[in-house]
Amino acid sequence: MHEWALAESVVLTVLRVAEERNAARVLRVRIKLGELQQVEEEIFSTALRELSKNTPAEDAEFSLAREPAVLKCNRCSHEWKVERDKLKPEEAELIHFLPEAAHTYLRCPRCGSPDFAIESGRGVWIESVELG
Ligand SMILES: [Zn+2]
Repeated sequence: MHEWALAESVVLTVLRVAEERNAARVLRVRIKLGELQQVEEEIFSTALRELSKNTPAEDAEFSLAREPAVLKCNRCSHEWKVERDKLKPEEAELIHFLPEAAHTYLRCPRCGSPDFAIESGRGVWIESVELG
């Protein structure tokens, strides 16, 4: 149930921002989910609603968007995007829990090297918070 843990840290962060800016209400929160981050959006949304009850974020609109993973080859500097839909579920799962495993399954499409860095696509972050 890591969706609940993620939702809790999002709600706590949003409430801290609202408090720091003396805002009475949180109107809207935009959240980005990395493509390699496995999150059940339905559970995550439910958790956000439940955890913000009886807080200034109670009526906030939480919107979720996916951020594609970007990989960069360490050999030829080529950058490319990875879409999770194109990975097999067991590969996506393995890469999520063990990002190093990405190097076993993915290769630079230009030079074929397994030596690359994950530039983005992991994690969950708050893109913006609108306060009332
Ligand atoms: Zn390359």
